[in-house]
Amino acid sequence: MVTQARLLRPARLLILGPPGSGKGTQTDRLVKQFRIPALSSGDILRRQIDDKTSIGNLASGIIRSGELLPDAVMTSLITSELEALQWLSSTSTFLLDGFPRTQSQAEQLDHRLDRSGAALNLVVQLKVPVNVILNRIANRLVHVKSGRVYNLTYNPPKIAGIDDVTGEPLVRRPDDDPQVFKRRLDEYASQTEPLVKYYKSKPGNVLWSVAGDSSNVIFPKLQHEILARFG
Ligand code: AMP
Repeated sequence: MVTQARLLRPARLLILGPPGSGKGTQTDRLVKQFRIPALSSGDILRRQIDDKTSIGNLASGIIRSGELLPDAVMTSLITSELEALQWLSSTSTFLLDGFPRTQSQAEQLDHRLDRSGAALNLVVQLKVPVNVILNRIANRLVHVKSGRVYNLTYNPPKIAGIDDVTGEPLVRRPDDDPQVFKRRLDEYASQTEPLVKYYKSKPGNVLWSVAGDSSNVIFPKLQHEILARFG
């Protein structure tokens, strides 16, 4: 049973971390705990692939190879979502998962958010050991429409291969294949990890790092930090 809490101050969060570090799981828990609305770029792309849109067709090959979509495509996709959701305001609270993922995306996003007085005020860096990540990925299943993530070891679905909520089938992400996953880790190290330094250099102490071997260890620390800053 989750006891919900309302935040007093607008919280605009970004969760950064290597693939498999639990960004999706932390996001789900924050959505439930604090009712922070969230946008996951990976979930948006997977839905576009499912719906066979033109962005979906472009994304499918790139995601399967473990590479990143072009910055211009991602920035325009996510900015239009933010506009459509009416999150570009100084009173809004939201969480971004998976975007920005490169310095160019971060600069363009910040520029747009600054114009609306809606700059990110907490960037969470998840630090999880690589052996834990590899183990997790080998056991991960997802429900594409909702983005719900299961783990065969510590968070299995009630019925094997079936989403608990909708009864629809679960799938293994094609980009969780070991070779592709290695490339995604490399992409993270070269393209995304530099964002830690980028946000560290911003005023307002926005960057906050948290380490742990499991989402159950990380979540209480994250919850505490969010309450301290915005509760
Ligand atoms: P995720 O679910 O966040 O791990 O994203 C899955 C895949 O979608 C990534 O490996 C990339 O190929 C693509 N993707 C998601 N977000 C971005 C982004 N901000 N920039 C470029 N590619 C992205």
